[in-house]
Amino acid sequence: MNRATEATCGAPRRARLWALRPDRSGSGTITEAECTTCLEGSGAADDGRGPALWCLAHTQATGHTGFRRVRTDFFRVTAF
Ligand SMILES: [Zn+2]
Repeated sequence: MNRATEATCGAPRRARLWALRPDRSGSGTITEAECTTCLEGSGAADDGRGPALWCLAHTQATGHTGFRRVRTDFFRVTAF
């Protein structure tokens, strides 16, 4: 950053230490299942039971047997 940029952006930021931690302020891990044949999905659920049951029902209804399980969890950056 040159002097002209510093003048237009204000005071330089102080160096801080940051950490990446699990975000416990919202929901926990979210699980979804998707059929690898037709790409239909179970929708998101707070536990894996709903998507697992959806896979079994989907196989019974369609004969499709391959699924992708997607688990999403959240992190937040916080200052030390
Ligand atoms: Zn399918």
